[in-house]
Amino acid sequence: MTVAVLSGKGGAGKTFAAVNLAAAAGKAVYIDCDVEEPNGRLFWQPRGVTERPVTTALPVFDPEKCVGCRSCVDFCRFNALVYVKKAPMVFPEVCHACGGCALVCPQGAVGEQHRKVGVVEEGNRDQIHVVTGVLRTGEVSAVPVIRAALSAGLSRGDLTIIDCPPGSGCPVMESVREADYCLLVTEPTAFGLHNMAMVHQLCRLLGKPCGLLINREEAPYAPLEDYCAREGLPILLRIPYRRQLAQWGAEGAVAVRRDEALKAEFTRLLREIGGTAV
Ligand code: SF4
Ligand code: SF4
Repeated sequence: MTVAVLSGKGGAGKTFAAVNLAAAAGKAVYIDCDVEEPNGRLFWQPRGVTERPVTTALPVFDPEKCVGCRSCVDFCRFNALVYVKKAPMVFPEVCHACGGCALVCPQGAVGEQHRKVGVVEEGNRDQIHVVTGVLRTGEVSAVPVIRAALSAGLSRGDLTIIDCPPGSGCPVMESVREADYCLLVTEPTAFGLHNMAMVHQLCRLLGKPCGLLINREEAPYAPLEDYCAREGLPILLRIPYRRQLAQWGAEGAVAVRRDEALKAEFTRLLREIGGTAV
């Protein structure tokens, strides 16, 4: 089973939920798709880490063959090409490596070269296999690194927990595509509700079953309760605000390994969404 954990915004407790869910399971694959800021590994401290590069194909233009028709420039929907000094020029950070410019070139003047955009790390800690996508600083598109991380982790076939990126754009869509269940995480605030609702709508569009974890709750937040009732979103777990949890987080400790009651709650959550603990 594959569970995607997402929140719509950073800082809501998505990594906290994903890490503790995997730890409560006992044996799992944890994939960090928050590739711009992958901090799940700080909690796992995986051993025996291997690293392999993620590359994309960048177009290169043959000035001998190019006749300056600009078909490639007109085709590129990402505005990654400009025509200067009698040849197309590419902005590598904006190119999405779709290959379209090579397809439309009538002269066969477009070749490709590989460009490193990030890495995927893999290691283990106890019975958790930790896969981490790391996007190179300055890159615009996280999708190739997310795809590579998912491909490495999902092939193992165990219970898989995906720590998704924040937001509700292409990287999130890519991260939840293979998920059987989406666990949404929010704080009981207006900002948290607004962004969680956006990813909830996205998951619904993709036909994914969803449930909610409310993090750092001091008291029920009426607009959030109303939203869940109105939209039929089940509240699966409420984590009260506790200074101790924040402190363990700052220390890089996995909370369910220090708190049996919390572990029981995450184990129950896992059972409710269809996963099993070992
Ligand atoms: S590969 Fe695609 S995104 Fe990149 S320059 Fe060509 S058309 Fe544009
Ligand atoms: S489509 Fe081909 S021939 Fe036309 S400008 Fe681009 S590279 Fe040159």
